[in-house]
Amino acid sequence: MNDLIPPYENVLARIAAAAGRAGRDPADITLVAVTKTHGPEVVRDAIDAGMTLFGENKVQEAAWKIPLCPSSAHWHLIGHLQTNKARHAVRLFEAIHSVDSQRLLDTLEAAARQAGTRPEILLEVNVSGEPSKYGLAPEAVPPLLDHLLATTTALTLTGLMTMAPFDPDPEHARPHFARLRELRDALSARFGLSLPNLSMGMTGDFEVAIEEGATHVRIGTALFGTRPKLTLAAR
Ligand SMILES: *Cc1c(COP(=O)(O)O)cnc(C)c1O
Repeated sequence: MNDLIPPYENVLARIAAAAGRAGRDPADITLVAVTKTHGPEVVRDAIDAGMTLFGENKVQEAAWKIPLCPSSAHWHLIGHLQTNKARHAVRLFEAIHSVDSQRLLDTLEAAARQAGTRPEILLEVNVSGEPSKYGLAPEAVPPLLDHLLATTTALTLTGLMTMAPFDPDPEHARPHFARLRELRDALSARFGLSLPNLSMGMTGDFEVAIEEGATHVRIGTALFGTRPKLTLAAR
């Protein structure tokens, strides 16, 4: 008996229910199963349970883990990316959700050209303005889009990503998710771009995110349980 089947089915049912409440097709919502801190054996069980797409937040951990996992797995980077890891990131990941500066964008573009890969990217936006969060200020996105449209050929921009401030009440996340959707709609109109993807929602708030238009929910704890706390030495 695969222990991951019940939580996976539970998460799928919650995704479908949230989509139903919003009049959306559940097939338009992609589950990114977040396996950070978990080993390749967990990924193998997750694949057996039916999961196909996995999210990692650290390049170094992913570089170790991914080669030990079945090659049928698809991988997205969801965590902050330092420019000095861009070379690895464009080889390991099909999509990078956390592009948050022109310097990182330029480095990824050069790295993808050199590697001959064509990763999708999403721009991470700090819609809440919380100082501890990564992400572009909303007003910094249009100039970055101008630059992106003029310079990138290897990278494909597909949408926006955000993280809501930590809050036990998911309803408090709703205005931040709505704001990301509104920003996406405004940018699509202004730049004539299709930006289909909204990566928003985690274990604590994914249902609200789906009601507000999320296409990618990044879920770890609800699938794999509480993560082991990493000691400083293991980072
Ligand atoms: C860890 C992480 C998640 C998943 O968080 P859970 O609360 O365990 O579902 C989602 N997004 C990002 C960027 C993360 O780092």
